[in-house]
Amino acid sequence: MYAPAPQRAGTDPWVERAACRDTDPETFFPSAGRSGDHDPEAPAKRVCARCPVSRDCLREALRHEESTGIWGGLNVRERRELLRIAASLGAADPELDALLTDDRLRLRPQQRERPAYVWFLRHHGWGPRRIAGALGMTCRQVEQAWELAEFASLCTRGPTSRAERPPRPRGPRARVAGTDSGPAS
Ligand code: SF4
Repeated sequence: MYAPAPQRAGTDPWVERAACRDTDPETFFPSAGRSGDHDPEAPAKRVCARCPVSRDCLREALRHEESTGIWGGLNVRERRELLRIAASLGAADPELDALLTDDRLRLRPQQRERPAYVWFLRHHGWGPRRIAGALGMTCRQVEQAWELAEFASLCTRGPTSRAERPPRPRGPRARVAGTDSGPAS
C-alpha cells in the first residue's frame, strides 16, 4: 500500500519515483495536535524531505485543493499559505507603484506581504540591497522572501485551469481505506 501520491501511478509517471511508495499511507494523515515533544507530522515530512518528486506532489495537491494530509512536505495550512502567496504575486499595489517612481519612499510591509513586495521589485530590476533599504528588511530577509515567492510561483505554475484538470482522483482517506467512494467536492 502506498502513501498519497503514488496511488496515482499509471497516470502520472513521476509517482514511480516517490519516496513514500513503501510507507504506510496513514503516516501522511497524522492526527491533529502534538503530544509532548512528538510532532505527528514529522515522520511524513522526513520522508517528503528526501523525495525526488516532492515538487510534483505538492503541485498536484495544490491543483486539487487537497484538504487533508501531508503532500510535498506541507500540511494543509502551509499549502493554503503558499496559495495565498502565489495569488498575491503581481497584484496591483499603489504603494509599490509609487516606490517605482520615487525610490526615496520607504515602505514597511508586514511579514505576510514581504514575498509579494520583494517579487514585485525584483521583477522591476531592483537588487537585494536596494530592496532591503526600501522595505526595512535585511538582505537575508529579502533573499528568504524571494525564495518563498519563487517557490509559490513554481508550485502553482502550469495547467491549472479547470478545463485542463485531469479527473479528480479518489480522496486520500478513501484510497487508504481501499473504498471506491470519492471525496466530497
Ligand atoms: S513528497 Fe511526500 S507524499 Fe509526495 S510523493 Fe514524495 S514522499 Fe510521497
